[in-house]
Amino acid sequence: MQATLTILSGDGVGPEVTAQAEKLLTTVATVFHHDFYLPTGLIGGAALEATGEPLPDATLSLCRQSEAVLLGAVGGPKWDTLPGNKRPETGLLGLRKALQVFANLRPILVWPELSGASPLKPEVLSGTDMVLVRELTGGLYFGVPRERRFEDSGLAVVDTLHYTEREMERLIRLGFTMAQGRRGQLISVDKANVLESSRLWREVVERVSIEFPGVQVQHMLVDSAAMQLVKNPRQFDVLVTENLFGDILSDEAATLTGSIGMLPSASLSENGPGLYEPIHGSAPDIAGQNLANPLGTLLSVAMLLRFSLKLMREAEAVERAVRSVVSAGYRTRDLVQPGENWIGTDKMGDKVCQYLREEEQNGEHTI
Ligand code: NAD
Repeated sequence: MQATLTILSGDGVGPEVTAQAEKLLTTVATVFHHDFYLPTGLIGGAALEATGEPLPDATLSLCRQSEAVLLGAVGGPKWDTLPGNKRPETGLLGLRKALQVFANLRPILVWPELSGASPLKPEVLSGTDMVLVRELTGGLYFGVPRERRFEDSGLAVVDTLHYTEREMERLIRLGFTMAQGRRGQLISVDKANVLESSRLWREVVERVSIEFPGVQVQHMLVDSAAMQLVKNPRQFDVLVTENLFGDILSDEAATLTGSIGMLPSASLSENGPGLYEPIHGSAPDIAGQNLANPLGTLLSVAMLLRFSLKLMREAEAVERAVRSVVSAGYRTRDLVQPGENWIGTDKMGDKVCQYLREEEQNGEHTI
């Protein structure tokens, strides 16, 4: 296969983790005989420094011509005092909007080898393996009016929760499709006891469910879901929800795994390129020190191969290699207890590439 995959390193640890992703994509291309073109573009603080804009037109046009985009992270204290439209994060929000990525997928897998790093007890965590599917371009974050205003009683404020049925339906259908390919269980999260938008959400879930008779559906109120995520996380297979609830619940779920450095994400559009990124930020406290965990980024590469290029075998090979490296005891600093050995970002990237090559060459698919 020939594919253009644009890499946007961004700021902080972004360049360190995307350098590992570049090595991995090159390894996948060699092992599976693909031709990946990997151009790079500027975004965030790095783009501000070079061009004065957090999302230069050249970057956007490169992304639009790609099959997929892999992003490191943006932001850092250096740019924190800039006005809103000049902040690195504006570049990332602008990119998501321009690519119209309406669905954010966040797999949350608890690795038995790493369960000690989680704030929850191993017996509560054991077997946790879920995907959160969050609507990304509608709801309270984008509705208008969004303003402060003076009323008779004084200062007031308005945010608007707006969704079209179509926006709900395309996201919910994606959730069902994901559940169909997994354990066949979908939990839809809403606040239907209070919100009109949630009542329409439920109706759409019920209607779409008819197309997926093999998927078992449960509705859960968002307050209950927040509790159930820490009480019994293994009951979740696919959790589908709207933008604001998803924003909050996905960070709660991410905490279950212990290290933010392990978690990948994919943001998908209807037809255009997908955007793949680890869920962590630019981690300025450890940037430039070869301390960042690159596994969330490497698992994002697996998602890119699966969702944008439909290369299932290659995606599984990447996930297997990451798993093998962790099982073999290799850890970055964020994953170890005091006194234990760890390896740097680049060595971790090398190990995953090495295991992928060896496992594919030797046909070792035991893990
Ligand atoms: P952060 O995720 O950057 O860091 C939180 C903590 O996790 C830090 O202690 C950091 O060292 C650690 N950490 C993060 N990634 C790690 C990794 N790969 N390996 C090991 N440890 C890791 O969140 P923050 O500190 O709140 O934000 C820092 C900057 O990143 C801010 O400017 C913020 O706006 C930006 N940010 C960007 C994104 C993005 O680009 N998608 C997301 C969140 C935050």
